[in-house]
Amino acid sequence: MKIVIAGTGYVGLVTGACLSEVGIDVVCIDVDQAKIDDLKNRQVPIFEPGLEEILHRNIKKNRLSFSTNIAEAIIDAEVVFIAVGTPPEEDGGADIGQVLEVARDCGKYMKSYLLVVTKSTVPVGTSEKVKNAIQKEIDNRRLKIDFDVASNPEFLKQGAAVEDFLKPDRIVIGTDTKRAEDIMKRLYKPFTINGHPIFFMDIVSAEMTKYAANSMLATKISFMNDIANLCELTGADINMVRKGIGSDPRIGSKFIYPGIGYGGSCFPKDVKALIHTAGKYNYDLRLLKAVEAINSDQKLTLFKKIMKSFSGDISGKTIALWGLSYKPQTDDMREAPAVVIIKKLLEAGAKIKAYDPAAKNEAFKYFGNDISYCDDQYEALHEADCLALITEWSEFRSPKFDLIKSLLKNPLIFDGRNIYDRNELKKLGFTYHCIGVNSDSDYISF
Ligand code: NAD
Repeated sequence: MKIVIAGTGYVGLVTGACLSEVGIDVVCIDVDQAKIDDLKNRQVPIFEPGLEEILHRNIKKNRLSFSTNIAEAIIDAEVVFIAVGTPPEEDGGADIGQVLEVARDCGKYMKSYLLVVTKSTVPVGTSEKVKNAIQKEIDNRRLKIDFDVASNPEFLKQGAAVEDFLKPDRIVIGTDTKRAEDIMKRLYKPFTINGHPIFFMDIVSAEMTKYAANSMLATKISFMNDIANLCELTGADINMVRKGIGSDPRIGSKFIYPGIGYGGSCFPKDVKALIHTAGKYNYDLRLLKAVEAINSDQKLTLFKKIMKSFSGDISGKTIALWGLSYKPQTDDMREAPAVVIIKKLLEAGAKIKAYDPAAKNEAFKYFGNDISYCDDQYEALHEADCLALITEWSEFRSPKFDLIKSLLKNPLIFDGRNIYDRNELKKLGFTYHCIGVNSDSDYISF
């Protein structure tokens, strides 16, 4: 079986690498010549644990190759996965222009039966548009060629994408023909053989499943952040509340950590896109509108705490930031809380010294020389007035607090991810602010 993956970003590259890992011939194509050149030279354009090894191994075995030429790649392919971007439009809707472009390419160049699978996150009804776009191109060629479309939304988590693809929680596939279902079953057999579930459904339900999943996760985050803010006002401790509710199996302990808001390339745009889809059906998704509003506000929480701590004036202050990516184990800064926080800090006249284990180059694209980039977490603290922890990379979890204290001008920490023990920090002489705990409240030991 030969597969073409159109779009060689986080999803396409991981999909291509993992499918080749189980023995399938894969060609990854992209319109970005520089990206394809890098990959041909074995340079991996993104940071994703485990990806580089798999890529190198399968390139060596000639199972994985890269090209910008979709016309050539498609000739003997049985399946084309569309894994291109679906960025947000001004009104919150998802822009499916890149998806339809690949669909048109399929119609233009396919020579025999093809299964075209949408892996990009696309609004309900997109597969129908993909089908029409392919058919139109085939008609233009005055040919009769069979094809099917399918929806196969991707649930991988950046930072654990390879692991998630190889050992999926579930695989969701929407099809409307037996032929397409059989091909997808065969393709995914190596990943389901150990009991990982595969759910076949109609195409529209598969498309909706992806948005419902991301919206549910975003809702959990915003819910906890809302409760965290109320905890600060009432004197309750969100860390205790989280444990108290998370032990209820109906609620579960995952995704209920308070913080400084969700970011990344998926949750923000997918929540907006689902609200937009609902609008098209004259349905008001009130809950998700609140989820989004809470999240926008939450990204400002740490900035507000810093301002308050310096009596509203941070002009000329130096703020050390630990972490820039929207979450650990990735270099992705799309919609990252760090972007919002840094903009606000700069506007207020502060200087920034930042350290991130992977996102330095990405951060440079956003801020250029407006902030200083450090190569070490402690280097960022020299002459800084306080430390703000933005992303909970493992290497920040047990830092040398004595060293932090000796390097900072003030023993002042703002923890946007609640990873430190406030009792311990108080004993060490720090002033510690975190999320969902009133920093003026008594310190308690447990
Ligand atoms: P990305 O921006 O990292 O990559 C998209 C790639 O598609 C780019 O390299 C771009 O050059 C390429 N491209 C654009 N037009 C093309 C065309 N006509 N032909 C070939 N290549 C083309 O995007 P991503 O993060 O991999 O996301 C892709 C899709 O998967 C999006 O719909 C996203 O919502 C969804 N998704 C992303 C994640 C994630 O964690 N990143 C997880 C699940 C689903």
